[in-house]
Amino acid sequence: MTQNYQPIFILPEGSERTYGKDAQRTNIAAAKAVAETVRTTLGPKGMDKMLVNSMGDVIITNDGYTILDEMEIEHPSAKMIVEIAKTQQDEVGDGTTTAVVFAGELLKNAENLLSQDVHPTLIARGYRMAGEHAIATIEKLAEPIGKEDTKTLTKIAMTAMTGKAAEMAREQLAELIVRAAILTFEDNGKLDIDNIKLEKKVGFGVEDSELIEGILLDKDKCHPGMPTSIKNAKIALIDKELEIKKTEIDANIEIKDPSQMQAFIEMEEKMLRDMVENVAKSGANVLFVQKGIDDLAKHFLSKKGIFAIERVSDDNMQKLAKATGAKITNSLRDLAATDLGFAGLVEEKKLGDETYTFIGKCKNPRSVTLLIRGGTQHVVDELERAVSDAVGDISATLSNGKAVGGAGSSEIEIAKAVKKYATSLSGREQLAVQAFGEALEVIPRTLAENAGLDPIDVLTELKAAHEKGQKWAGIDVFSGKVMDAWKQGVIEPLKIKTQAIKSATEVTELILRIDDVIAASKKSMPSMPGGMGGMGM
Ligand code: ADP
Ligand code: MG
Repeated sequence: MTQNYQPIFILPEGSERTYGKDAQRTNIAAAKAVAETVRTTLGPKGMDKMLVNSMGDVIITNDGYTILDEMEIEHPSAKMIVEIAKTQQDEVGDGTTTAVVFAGELLKNAENLLSQDVHPTLIARGYRMAGEHAIATIEKLAEPIGKEDTKTLTKIAMTAMTGKAAEMAREQLAELIVRAAILTFEDNGKLDIDNIKLEKKVGFGVEDSELIEGILLDKDKCHPGMPTSIKNAKIALIDKELEIKKTEIDANIEIKDPSQMQAFIEMEEKMLRDMVENVAKSGANVLFVQKGIDDLAKHFLSKKGIFAIERVSDDNMQKLAKATGAKITNSLRDLAATDLGFAGLVEEKKLGDETYTFIGKCKNPRSVTLLIRGGTQHVVDELERAVSDAVGDISATLSNGKAVGGAGSSEIEIAKAVKKYATSLSGREQLAVQAFGEALEVIPRTLAENAGLDPIDVLTELKAAHEKGQKWAGIDVFSGKVMDAWKQGVIEPLKIKTQAIKSATEVTELILRIDDVIAASKKSMPSMPGGMGGMGM
């Protein structure tokens, strides 16, 4: 008796499935391709990329995260690499290219081991062991940095901005950033970067950037009769309106003759006058109101010489409170001198075509503003990215109190330790740990390549220097010589390195463990009328 075997389909029609080594190979290739795209941007001599989106907007940047984010990558494994950049961006704010390039190299080395028939789980285990050893090593090597060490902090900020749009005014910007960080650094040893607001404005040059020890509001005073500038401002923050709510009066009023109408208007006027009187009585000469201010009240306020702004957002009210020390109140009647905050200068100024109010020279501001200026929109945008990297680095350094040498010095030193650790292991994990150590060298190698130097010569010299015990020996990308990165002021927060190692190792492990990719067939999207295609869903 013969039996007819029917093929059995367990997946819907059109699904794609790749198994085993094919799956690994495709995943690794996709992830490597992502790393490859940002590789040429690494370091001070890295190149920029010009990104043009479907709307024709242009971004010029060498920021790893911005590049990958704008590329709208689709392949699932490639997306996992983009996630590394995102984590690095969220956790530290800098080192995104480093993390991605390192992950790419880990995968490349894993591919070699796979072709030598080393099992993927073994590679994953070896990588994990090596990653832990690498982090422990760099933590031991790192140098302590305190809040008072502004010189080193400035160097860290400068390192973050080397080779970026900020190059021209690097030192000046670094000093502003460090001052901003120290002002907002809390006693509990934390620095919340939300308290350092970056405002960018096209016009003038980078060197006109400034730190406002307080807040910059994109609003102006609400009455032309009010003063434009107030020294030693005593500031009241009111989170309600300075109006008479219609419901408070007109619910049940029937006006029968003109005298009643007059009385009614007078009553309203008196209520508003009292409100303003209360503000003045508290001693306030500057007033920020979250809601609206009645026109008549504006007039009374201006008569009293009080500078007032209406409709300030909740977010800005909170920032004003932090910067000036004022207490946000909702009762005008109870407004007291103790609720008021202080700013050395409140001033309305024009930046370009728009009017802004500077609330500066605050006494002990917990919230400050960095006003970044530059000649064109592209410059200002890229400046902002560079400054935000530097702010992230200073925050990471202050929060964990440790920094390391840059210019590839850390990576070479960790690689040395990891390779030494490999020799202490037996079995095939040794191969994986060794491969991890070699992968770390991709950072100095790429720095050298991007600077047009011979990477083999550079690595040989660097390794020799580290063998002699020079732990911060790095590559001077400008001269091609080996230098002491720490002494030359190329310094980075420890967290850049530990976070990059951690996330690159985790993602590599994840990708290596996949041996079966089952992808549903792509449903074609219903076409949208009106040519909305290419918006990137
Ligand atoms: P990432 O996105 O990883 O921060 P960057 O393009 O900012 O990428 O490059 C960071 C790398 O450049 C780090 O390895 C850092 O040590 C190195 N670097 C920064 N300044 C210098 C310098 N003056 N000389 C050599 N290397 C430097
Ligand atoms: Mg950087």
